[in-house]
Amino acid sequence: MSTSAKMMRAFLVRQFGGIDQMKLERVPVPTVGDKQVLIKVYSSGVNPVDTYVRSGQYKVLPDLPYIPGKDAAGVVHSVGASVTKFKRGDRVFSSQTNRMGTLAEYACVDEPNVFPLARSLSFYEGAAIGIPYFTAYRALIHKALAKGGERVLIHGASGAVGIAATQIAKKLGLYVVGTAGSKEGIELVLRTGADEVVNHRDPKYIDKLSVGEKFDIILEMLSNVNLGHDLNLMNSGARTIVIGCRGPVNIHPRDLMTTEGSIIGCALYAASHDEIQETGSALVRGIREGWVRPAIDMVYGFELAREAHSAVVQTRGSKGKHVIEVQKEP
Ligand code: NAP
Repeated sequence: MSTSAKMMRAFLVRQFGGIDQMKLERVPVPTVGDKQVLIKVYSSGVNPVDTYVRSGQYKVLPDLPYIPGKDAAGVVHSVGASVTKFKRGDRVFSSQTNRMGTLAEYACVDEPNVFPLARSLSFYEGAAIGIPYFTAYRALIHKALAKGGERVLIHGASGAVGIAATQIAKKLGLYVVGTAGSKEGIELVLRTGADEVVNHRDPKYIDKLSVGEKFDIILEMLSNVNLGHDLNLMNSGARTIVIGCRGPVNIHPRDLMTTEGSIIGCALYAASHDEIQETGSALVRGIREGWVRPAIDMVYGFELAREAHSAVVQTRGSKGKHVIEVQKEP
C-alpha cells in the first residue's frame, strides 16, 4: 500500500554536527517496501550512537539528509506484500542495527527488525528495548558465553545497557555486581536485581572491588576509563567485554597473562540475521515472562528531541533510558 502522498513530522539532519543540525520538518511518509513494516511511531528511543552518527563521528554514516533514531515502539500502520508476521494495528517495537529513521511520526522497518510488543509494556518501555537489550544480550550470550553461577561485574549498570544486562544476567543465574554513580542509580540497580552495587564515583571503589572475590565476566561501558583496572579484577579465564569506549586507554598486557583472560569487543551492528532473530525471540519471551522490564529515566516531548540527544551523552546519575514521545496514543 502506498502512503507517499501523506505528510508527517520528522526530525531531519541535513548536515552532520551539533544538536542544532536536527530540524523538525514536514516530509512525506515513507513508502513501505515489499518486506517492510510501516510503524506509526508513538515513542522513539534515544541511544548514545544516535549522537555519534549525528555529529558525523561514527564508523558507518547514512547518506544526507537522514532522519535520526534506530529504536521505536508503536502500532503497525501498513505492511509490504511479502510481510507475513504482522498486520495493521499490531503493537510492535523495533530496532534497526544498520539504519535510522524513528524520530518521525512513521518509520519503515525491515520485517526481521520488528517484534511484537505485549500490552504489559508501555510504548515508552517498548522504545527502550532495542539497542540496549540487544547489546546486553550480545555481550553476555554471544560474546562472553555466560553460564549460570558465574560472577559478572557490570561496570555502568545504571544506564540503559546496564539495566538490560542486569536483568538478562539474573535470568541466566549469574551473581551480579553493578556500578552506578548516584544514590538513585544504586537504588535502581538493586531494585533491578543486582546482588551488590558499588559507586563508581567513590575514589576507593576499585580498591574495594579488588579485595573481594574476582569476576568471570566484566561488561565495560566506559573502557577508556576502566579497562586497565578491569584486568586486575578478572578471575582465571575471565572475559572482559568492551561495550562502550570514548577514547584511548593504557593497559598493562601482562595482567592478562596471569589470568589467561580475554578482552573481547562487542558491536551490535556486527550481529548476524540469525543472532538478531534469536535475541528478539528471547526478549519477546522475557517480556511475556515479566523479566524484561526497561527502566525509563526521562520522557521528552517530540519538540525536545535535541535536549534528549544532549542528555543521553552528558547525564551523570543515570537511571535507565531516555525516550521521546513522538505522538500521543489516541
Ligand atoms: P547510558 O544510559 O548513558 O549509561 C552510561 C552508563 O555509564 C551509566 O550507568 C553511567 O553511570 C556509567 N558510567 C559513568 N561513568 C562511569 C565510570 N567512570 N565507570 C563506569 N561506568 C560509568 O548509556 P548506554 O545506552 O547504557 O550505553 C553505554 C555505553 O555503551 C555507551 O558508551 C554506548 O555508546 C555504548 N554502546 C555500545 C554498543 C555496542 O554495540 N558496542 C551498543 C549500545 C551502547 P552514572 O550515570 O550513574 O554515573
